[in-house]
Amino acid sequence: MNVPFLDLRGAYEEARDAIDAALGRVAASGRYIGGAEVEAFEQEWAAFVGCSHCVGTGNGLDALTLGLRALGIGPGDDVIVPGHTFVATWLAVSHCGARPLPVDVESDSANIDPARIEAAITPKTRAIVVVHLYGRPVEMDAIVAIARRHHLLVVEDAAQAHGARFRDRQVGSLGDLAAWSFYPGKNLGALGDAGAVTTNDPELARRIAQLGNYGSSRKYVHELQGFNSRLDPMQAAVLRAKLPYLRAWNLRRRSLARRYNEALAGLPGLRLPEPAPHVESAWHLYTIRHARREELRHALSARGIETLVHYPIAPHLQQAYAEAYEAEELPVTRRLCGELLSLPFGPHLRPEQEQRVIEALTQALRVLS
Ligand SMILES: *Cc1c(COP(=O)(O)O)cnc(C)c1O
Repeated sequence: MNVPFLDLRGAYEEARDAIDAALGRVAASGRYIGGAEVEAFEQEWAAFVGCSHCVGTGNGLDALTLGLRALGIGPGDDVIVPGHTFVATWLAVSHCGARPLPVDVESDSANIDPARIEAAITPKTRAIVVVHLYGRPVEMDAIVAIARRHHLLVVEDAAQAHGARFRDRQVGSLGDLAAWSFYPGKNLGALGDAGAVTTNDPELARRIAQLGNYGSSRKYVHELQGFNSRLDPMQAAVLRAKLPYLRAWNLRRRSLARRYNEALAGLPGLRLPEPAPHVESAWHLYTIRHARREELRHALSARGIETLVHYPIAPHLQQAYAEAYEAEELPVTRRLCGELLSLPFGPHLRPEQEQRVIEALTQALRVLS
């Protein structure tokens, strides 16, 4: 039996009636940009996150970029980012004309290390972008305290953390704004690209909506040089159909993570993801660590198990950034990029697939050691 890393058809099949009805509703409405479905999803997502405002965008990268721009980030500014993240976190800063200032991550959580932030702050630093990587919340109390001391803005890249909680507070409501992606593989995924920003600042929400709509709040009147990045009503309707499943799907993710952790405990050389008790991960990914990751990956592949590496090349080592960051060390990021491995995972992984992953990994490690 082959086990794919992720098969999104399971989510569609479970929510099929609601999704099909949603798509039909939009098709029959005659309204294909903005409108009632977009407004309704924005309200429902704001309520889920516990924020007063939500603005839909075309995707997660745009949510981050427009959010940073609306906060006034621009050329000459530095923005602190984690060294280890999906490249979009960095690109959003660059697309504002600002400079990403990387801070190395914690070895255990793979999240930005609050203890290293203050040493990185420059006179030009305006904001910290944190990423709740793999769904595991960042240490937000420490981040917010540093931001207050240095008068910095806090932006949450919550693209992997739908429904995660930090000390019983909902992730995405803990900074000045949060950027969400509803890329199909995320915990709440559309049937294409989609994104959103949540915030409690009405003026900020207004500016983001304006920036994403050609810099206009009234048709053919343009106060800003904006962009076209709006939440598609088809995707908004799909997201409304899937949102009622999110809590249950996250619970299934958490149970699967527990079962993996129990079944894989004590295997030689393996490090398992174990979030601290005061956080509730959204378990976007189940990511293990092994010093001989490439050999392990091949051994699993030979047994029909598809795995992915999130992420093999850190942003500062990508060609897009390498020249500007030649002197950057980020030793923890570098080590994690060589050791991390994400296993097949998700609310629709079948029990026999789960068993197969556990068996294959156990065998593969026995051969390796
Ligand atoms: C997916 C993702 C994004 C980008 O979202 P898109 O909708 O694909 O543009 C940004 N940051 C992180 C951490 C992500 O995982």
